[in-house]
Amino acid sequence: MWRLLRITLLLLVLAVVVSQTWLDRIHTTSWNRTLWIGIYPLNGDGSQTAERYVSGLRAEDFVDIERFYAREAQRYGIEVAEPVHVELYPTPAQLPPLLPQGAGALTTVWWSLKLRWYAAHAAHTGDRPPSDIRVFVLFHDPAMTPRVPHSLGLEKGLVGVVYAFADRGAQGGNAVVIAHEVMHTLGATDKYDPDTDMPIYPQGFADPQRQPRYPQLRAEIMAGRRALSSTQAEMPDSLREVVVGPLTAAEIRWIR
Ligand SMILES: [Zn+2]
Repeated sequence: MWRLLRITLLLLVLAVVVSQTWLDRIHTTSWNRTLWIGIYPLNGDGSQTAERYVSGLRAEDFVDIERFYAREAQRYGIEVAEPVHVELYPTPAQLPPLLPQGAGALTTVWWSLKLRWYAAHAAHTGDRPPSDIRVFVLFHDPAMTPRVPHSLGLEKGLVGVVYAFADRGAQGGNAVVIAHEVMHTLGATDKYDPDTDMPIYPQGFADPQRQPRYPQLRAEIMAGRRALSSTQAEMPDSLREVVVGPLTAAEIRWIR
């Protein structure tokens, strides 16, 4: 009896999660109204540098992300003038739950539920309208943390966790990572080789037809880097050097 009840309850939760994901997908990829992206800045390493940087942030610091989505959407014939709007929200009281390194499938599922729970509560900011997609940006002092873990974006729950640098010079690179993780929440997949980090040909190339093929002048957003040769790639300095390739455009339903 208990066993049956437990299984029924679990199936019910699963059904709710699956249908919610399906509804989210229809809602976020209709592209007939502006998607609201909430940026929640956090001090990722407890440093004074990150603290100062976070308190000095303004919504205008993220305007490149809006411009990138508007420019690229227009190329694919999307008519809404402002496909995404980026809004800066106050810093949540706590850091998001972190996925333990080398976590198994069960731990990962549990963590993703905790993250969604965290996002739902941390994003509750009273008088402000709620955002469609919530991106928690953990700023790090580059002197203390020269390398940060991989950022992530979850389509289920429309949540992103971005590791960023608390440095004005890194603002363009941070915007590339945020735009990439937002793409994940919209259903786009990575277009780089996870073993080598190299863009995958042709879908991870901004200009696959280019002769000679290398160096590529711009990066595809889901490859994250532009190929300089068959073995070298570099991260772009800003979203001005990034495009949305046709496969990514199809995944987020800019092409139908
Ligand atoms: Zn990715």
